[in-house]
Amino acid sequence: MMVSGRMRGYKTEGVVLRHVASGEADRIVVLYTPEYGKLRAVAKGVRRVKSKLAGHLELLNRVSVSLAEGRSMDTVTETETVQAYRGVREDLERLSAAMFMAELVDGIAVEQAPSQPAYALLTASLELLETAERPGQAARCFQVQMLALSGFGPELRKCVQCDAELEPRDHAFTVVGGGIICPACRAGSQDALVPISLNVLKVLRFFQREPMEKAASLRLDAQLFDELERVLDGYARYVLERDLKTTEFMDLVRSGRTTRQGRGTGAPKTT
Ligand SMILES: [Zn+2]
Repeated sequence: MMVSGRMRGYKTEGVVLRHVASGEADRIVVLYTPEYGKLRAVAKGVRRVKSKLAGHLELLNRVSVSLAEGRSMDTVTETETVQAYRGVREDLERLSAAMFMAELVDGIAVEQAPSQPAYALLTASLELLETAERPGQAARCFQVQMLALSGFGPELRKCVQCDAELEPRDHAFTVVGGGIICPACRAGSQDALVPISLNVLKVLRFFQREPMEKAASLRLDAQLFDELERVLDGYARYVLERDLKTTEFMDLVRSGRTTRQGRGTGAPKTT
C-alpha cells in the first residue's frame, strides 16, 4: 500500500534570534514566534549565493515564514521580510542593544509556548530602538519587561521572605529570592545579597510599570545606570545560569562612544 509522503505545512511570523551553520550549505535558524514561542527550523541551501531565503533570514529580521514539518526539525520553505529594522543595523550602539535583546529572548524563551505579549514587546522594542535616544537603556527596559512577562519579574514592592511592604530606603537584592529582602530578614539570610539604592529600586519599578517608550526615555545619570545594570546582570546570570555575551559588546560600544564624545557629556542628569 502506498503511503503519501506529503509533509504538513504551516505559516507563522517570527524574529530571527540566532543562526547555526549546519551541513555544507544549510543553516539552523532560531526564531521567536507569537504562536510557538522559540522555534528552530532548518533553512536548506541558505549559505549558497543564489539562495532565495538568505537575505530574509538575517539576524534580527522580522519575517513571515512557511514551514514544512519534519521528523526531527521543521524546514523553512518560503520566507519574506516583514521588517528589517534598518535604523538598528546602521548604528553600532542600536545594533548591540538589539543583539542583547535577541540573546536574552533566546535564553529565556521556551519552545512550543505561545508568547503573544512577549513577541509584541520584542517587535515594538526593536522598532523603538531604531530611533531611541538611549538604546542601552531601551535594552534594559526590555530586559525588565521581558523577565516579567516570562514569569521572572523580580519582586520590588514587598520583601521576598516576609511579604512586608518595603520602606523607602536603600535595600538589598537577592538573586536567589528574586527580589528585595527587608532589613529584618536580611540578618538571617544565607543568600548572596547585592546592595540596591532607593533610586535604582525606583527606576526598576518604573521600568516594570511603564510602557517601553516612556520607560526608555527616562533621564538617568551614568552612575545610576551603571548600578542598575549591575543589579540586572547579576539577576539575569542567575535566571539564565550564564552571562549574556552581548552585555560585554554593548558595554564596549558604549564606552567607545563615551570616550569619543568626552566622558560625562553624554550622561543626562536624573530628574
Ligand atoms: Zn522581610
